[in-house]
This record gives sequence, C-alpha cells and structure tokens, in this order.
Amino acid sequence: MSTVEELKLRVRELENELLKCKQSRSVEEDVGAGDNQTPHRPKIEKMSAEVVDTNPYRNINPDVKFERHNYNITTVDNFTHFMDRISNGGLEEGKPVDLVLSCVDNFEARMAINTACNEIGQIWMESGVSENAVSGHIQLIIPGETACFACAPPLVVASNIDEKTLKRDGVCAASLPTTMGVVAGILVQNVLKYLLGFGTVSYYLGYNAMQDFFPTMVMKPNTQCDDRHCRKQQEEYKNKEAARPKQEVVVAEEEQVVHEDNDWGIELVSEVTDEELKAASGPVPDLPEGITVAYTIPEKVEAACGGETVPESEQSLEELMAQMRKM
Ligand SMILES: [Zn+2]
Repeated sequence: MSTVEELKLRVRELENELLKCKQSRSVEEDVGAGDNQTPHRPKIEKMSAEVVDTNPYRNINPDVKFERHNYNITTVDNFTHFMDRISNGGLEEGKPVDLVLSCVDNFEARMAINTACNEIGQIWMESGVSENAVSGHIQLIIPGETACFACAPPLVVASNIDEKTLKRDGVCAASLPTTMGVVAGILVQNVLKYLLGFGTVSYYLGYNAMQDFFPTMVMKPNTQCDDRHCRKQQEEYKNKEAARPKQEVVVAEEEQVVHEDNDWGIELVSEVTDEELKAASGPVPDLPEGITVAYTIPEKVEAACGGETVPESEQSLEELMAQMRKM
C-alpha cells in the first residue's frame, strides 16, 4: 500500500512526463513541413500523378509542359529511362533537353545525374544546400570543359559556424527554408542567363548565409577523373578547341549613326553639357570595387541669389506696412 507521499510523488512524475510529451509535440509541429493544422498555411504535399495534370503551376504559365517521373534514378532501369528522357525529351520529341537542373538531396542521385550527363555530353546545373542549412551553392557543369561532379570532391561553402550552436534537441537544423529559397533563386537566375544569353553565367556560386559571402570560381576538369565518359568529353573538347580558328581581337570602331532620311535636319543634343554634369556631381565616397553611388548630391551653392537682396531698412514693420497701404 502506498502512502500519500508516494502517491503525490507519482502524480508529479506523471505531470512532468505529460509536459515533456506536450513540448516534444509542439517542436515536431514547428519543424514538420507537411503536417500543420494552421488554416492560413497551405499544406505542402507531394504531387500525385493525377495532381500533375491539374497542377497549379499550369495556371501561372499554361505553355509549360510537365512530364513527371517519380522514381529513384539510381536503379539500373530508371537510370536508363532517365538517360533516354534527357537525350530525347526536349521540346521537340527526339531532341535532347536544353539543360538539366539537379535539385536532389543526396550524393548517389547527383552521381547518377553526373554519369548520365557525361555520357551524352549534356550541360547541367547542380545545386545544393548544406545539411545545417546555412550555406549552399550552384554549379554549371559543361562535360569536358569544366570539372564534373566526379572530378573533385564535391565543393561546399565553409559555413564558419560551430555546429553545436545550431543543434538543439528535437529540432532539425536543416529546416531553414530561406536558404533553400535563396539558392533556388540563384539557380533559376543562372538558368535564365544561360538560356536567354545575358549577363555572366556563373560556373560556381556559393552562398554562406552566416556572413553573406558569395564565393565564385571556375574549375577545370580533372584529367584523371574516375568517370571515363568525363575523360572522353575532355579529349573531345580539347580537339574541338584546337580545331577552332584563333580569334583575333578586333577593336570595334564606333559607328556614326546616319539616318537615311532626315529632311528636317533634326539633331538630338544633350540638354546638359559635360561641364555642367561635372559641376553638378558632388563628392563621391570611397567605395569598394563594384559599388557606385546611384546619384551624387550637388555641392551647396552659397548665396544663390546674391546681389538681388534689398538693403536693410531702418524702418519698423508697422511703418513699412503703412507705406504699402498708401501705394
Ligand atoms: Zn570528371
């Protein structure tokens, strides 16, 4: 038989256990991306085959064609199918795709994409976020021309953070959706630059979220790469480069714009002369390279209306007002 004291102790123990349970549940709810009951947050689900046909992204751009294969690309059968789709699944059936984007979360899947792209010489872009979700990168891989995924150990951005400060019991560190958002944005930006041909396409662009540091670089392929298709692509690239005629640097002469018919002799003249522009520019602060001011503040012109002022009078305000009334 238990004494009252023992029973009280047991009750306290149970209360503590209940509290712990409640706490761990609330942590799970905060972390779990899919399972949330809040009405204003849309539930994120994996798309089923039927959902793809009525896919919400269709409404954004109805011209986009979706083709969905939900499988593990590292198995032999699926890998063969994957290779077939990237070599024949372009906008025009039978033609290769323009670009492959890798947004996978594991080494094996990246290696599979690398192997496939090396074999058929497909240009692709790799992307990833570190496990602690405070750094990420994107990488453009042109088989034979730049380092492939197997040429060197995978590149990661040093996060410069003590892991212990990130990890908390019951909390998954890699749940910083903003990092994924930033890296995804950088990837899509690079895709647009590559496909539409503007700006400088990045070969490698890292992102360190802790210090807002964006390292960038280009890496040559490794002649001793484990992937034989990579080595073959390197040979082909070398031969292609050697066969290409040397491009002479031609200094483009600025052509004078001549309008064939300008009956009225209309000319466009700048409203501001160079001298005026220079005079209007105020001091420019000392800035690091690559940063400039959007505009400069003109230096204050002293006595803008000098000489126009009326000499001071000895009369009072009342006297002046009386004079005015007489006028
Ligand atoms: Zn390689």
